Amino acid sequence: MTSEEKEAFIIYLQEKRQKLLSRIKELKDLSLIESPDCAVDKINRENSFYDKAVFRESLVKAENELEIISSVLKRIDSGNFGICEKCGKDIEVNLLKVKPESRFCINCLKMNK
Ligand SMILES: [Zn+2]
Repeated sequence: MTSEEKEAFIIYLQEKRQKLLSRIKELKDLSLIESPDCAVDKINRENSFYDKAVFRESLVKAENELEIISSVLKRIDSGNFGICEKCGKDIEVNLLKVKPESRFCINCLKMNK
């Protein structure tokens, strides 16, 4: 991975993290809204209950993704990013784009299977 590629990757990850952070905030607000009992009938309450479950599920997913991105950014800081932990060679950029949390190169992944 060249330093330009790395630079672009950091920007990409930081943007993604920003997006996730605002999405998490949004989802937290949505899943916390309590519907006033007196104002809604039973069906509406059930619907909003279902919505909240969906929000919570998306929230968990977004938080997991954020955790992965944060750990990848930490690895970039420590200089271990993009290097295979098994053979010490560069990890393919295309693989990192799809799975930035990859710690092994394609060859080592194949061997592990
Ligand atoms: Zn390797």
